[in-house]
Amino acid sequence: METTVVDILKKYWGHQAFRPLQDQIIESVIQKKDTIALLPTGGGKSVCFQVPGMYLPGLTIVISPLIALMRDQVENLKKKGIKAIAVNSAMNARELDIALDNAVYGDVKFLYLSPERLQTDIFKARLSRMKVSLIAVDEAHCISQWGYDFRPAYREIAAIRDQIPGVPMIALTATATKEVVDDIAIQLKLRSPAIFTKSFVRKNVIYVVQQEQQKLSRTVNIARKFGGSGIVYVGSRRETVRQSHLLRANGISALPYHAGMTNKDRQETQQMWIQNKAKVVVATNAFGMGIDKPDVRFVIHLDLPQSIEAYFQEAGRAGRDEKQAYAVALINTNDCETLVERVTNQVPDRNEVKTVYRALSNYFQLALGSLQAEPIAFDLNLFCKKFNLKPLRTLNALKILEHSGYITLSDAI
Ligand code: ADP
Ligand code: MG
Repeated sequence: METTVVDILKKYWGHQAFRPLQDQIIESVIQKKDTIALLPTGGGKSVCFQVPGMYLPGLTIVISPLIALMRDQVENLKKKGIKAIAVNSAMNARELDIALDNAVYGDVKFLYLSPERLQTDIFKARLSRMKVSLIAVDEAHCISQWGYDFRPAYREIAAIRDQIPGVPMIALTATATKEVVDDIAIQLKLRSPAIFTKSFVRKNVIYVVQQEQQKLSRTVNIARKFGGSGIVYVGSRRETVRQSHLLRANGISALPYHAGMTNKDRQETQQMWIQNKAKVVVATNAFGMGIDKPDVRFVIHLDLPQSIEAYFQEAGRAGRDEKQAYAVALINTNDCETLVERVTNQVPDRNEVKTVYRALSNYFQLALGSLQAEPIAFDLNLFCKKFNLKPLRTLNALKILEHSGYITLSDAI
């Protein structure tokens, strides 16, 4: 009997059925059509290229912008018994050789690459010998200057298509604005792509923004009133500890979560919460990626996040089970000022960008405006120390320089 894509989903992923649109997207891909998939974060985009990758013979090349994302997905595939490897700019020449040879001669199903790697001679030399069935471009909004994660190397992806003509391409992102989608289609040279868009409307989530000077008592009330679990987002690590303490003092089982805690402590907090032994996690924005708890009844923001996209993602962790849930932002009169201040603090002005550029030339002993083709190792902290610069503003200055085409940042930075 012939194996179907649903069989593959059940066998390797253990899911019983496709979510809406996943099946249509997969059908389009295995018909060898160029495809754009627009699903919200957590919507299940990985399955849309991984299931066809398993269904089709040969190899799927996945282009992904971050080492962390690649590692995550490769680990997950390996756990399912699927052969997957990641190639990134942190690898040395020998490791790279071995990995790419495996993709040519081994039975590797998924090869993850940073966009910069596609352009290298060592990869191009191997590419025509690989049996590629599909190219997946994850986080495809990185191709667009209109998006917020512009990555110039994404613009060069289309170049590999001439080398392996006829191989279909799927682009996936959670950014669905018209400018970005048009840009994706043009830059990747997609041939009359099939475009699938899942509505980003969350009908079961009720959004509330409330002026509130007494944030704590309001939070306690909400937590008491709603059954199920909740997340309280705050702006700093210190606040996660302080607020969780205050909530516990008011009889709400709450635990802190932030990126400064040990792995073990974070795992424990997460488990307590997932198993409903703790009702609330008080967290920074470090909490959420890859966490898939369906019955979150409320998400409260005690501090405003830095962007509307971040708010939508964090608030969107409420009500994954499609039952009614609340997203409540509690704001007081100072919050907007604080937010503006926090954002402007991170954005360097024109002169600072120039200073960083000069410091870079000085640091690497390059003449201003000269061309350096080979990548050079770079330690942001050392660099900032040497020139007495502020790390966050400097990082943003580097991003501005990259945007304007003066430098290229690799993902190993
Ligand atoms: P995205 O890349 O769109 O943000 P992911 O691919 O990381 O989302 O998937 C988010 C979560 O949804 C994962 O935990 C995944 O296991 C789950 N998921 C995806 N497809 C299905 C499905 N058909 N049935 C159940 N869970 C699914
Ligand atoms: Mg994803």
